[in-house]
Amino acid sequence: MDEIEKLLKELTEAGGVSGHETEVRKLVQKHFKPLGKVSHDRLGSVICKKQGEAAEPRVMLAGHMDEIGFIVSHITKEGFIRFANIGGWWDQVLLAQRVAIKTSKGDVMGTIGAKPPHLLSDEERKKLVDSKDMYIDIGCASAEEVEKAGVRVADPIVPVSQFTVLAGGRTYLGKAFDDRGGCAVVISSLRRMLDVAHPNTLFGVATVQEEVGLRGARTSVSLVDPDVAIILEGTAVNDMPGAANEGHVFRLGGGPVVTLFRQDMIPNRGLRDLIVDTAREHRIRLQIRADRIRGGTDGAAIHLHSAGVPTVALSLPVRYVHSHGSILHRGDFDAAVELLTAVVRQLDRKTVKALTAY
Ligand SMILES: [Zn+2]
Repeated sequence: MDEIEKLLKELTEAGGVSGHETEVRKLVQKHFKPLGKVSHDRLGSVICKKQGEAAEPRVMLAGHMDEIGFIVSHITKEGFIRFANIGGWWDQVLLAQRVAIKTSKGDVMGTIGAKPPHLLSDEERKKLVDSKDMYIDIGCASAEEVEKAGVRVADPIVPVSQFTVLAGGRTYLGKAFDDRGGCAVVISSLRRMLDVAHPNTLFGVATVQEEVGLRGARTSVSLVDPDVAIILEGTAVNDMPGAANEGHVFRLGGGPVVTLFRQDMIPNRGLRDLIVDTAREHRIRLQIRADRIRGGTDGAAIHLHSAGVPTVALSLPVRYVHSHGSILHRGDFDAAVELLTAVVRQLDRKTVKALTAY
């Protein structure tokens, strides 16, 4: 594994359900430390300030470090664990998946279960199983045994999925590429800027609680107070059988995706053009998206900070996003770092001022 693969493995395998980001936060802090001055907001988002040739403009590069997961809601007297979803799960991808319950005594492993097909009526077999009807089985036979294992109501639960390099060596299988992939792009780009002059001050930010309402974005942006922001995200692609829509295919390996329209944010046009033009000039692959897609990004909160912040979201394509088995393409990762680095080098005072010359 090379440096990027190691970074992605470390970040994606770490636990960090929204509101319980301690494990992944420690890793982000470790990677930020040699890159600049590290601080945090009071919800736990981490900020790395890297001063360039000028104090201004203040450039925010943000990815969220929280992941979707679950929380223990109830322990049955027979020793099964009922759970509530944190973030946007599609219940169909949950059954038979491994999870780790993060208890004060350490990780407790389990599997997500439900009534097996042998016991279902013909009618039941046709229906999707609702997560309310699932439970986590940790191999205990009573509530007392579960408690003895250290599990308590409200303990966070994370998906378990080993980072794996797939055949061909260019794609990776794992969980939480949304948005540990974005966090890794921020870290890699800051690393790259150690050797490169940039006419601004960079703030690499790993936000918390994005998946439950962009909360760490709101708190961290008030500390950073940026003049311009680029959000690094993971986004769903439709290059799999049966998903493409009228030829608008967003695909793995096609380059990062710049989203030009979302229900929650209309990106700054000048910044958007700068990104698109820079990609062209440097011959970096870029996919441009302006179709309907569910979900938002931290940009929705960040662009509304104070009197407004010119903001754009740049996303890594992820297949099977929000599941244990997501796939990321190395080419997209490298292209995102390349593009971000090239864009950041142009963000001087004059260029950023022009973004909001109305
Ligand atoms: Zn995300």
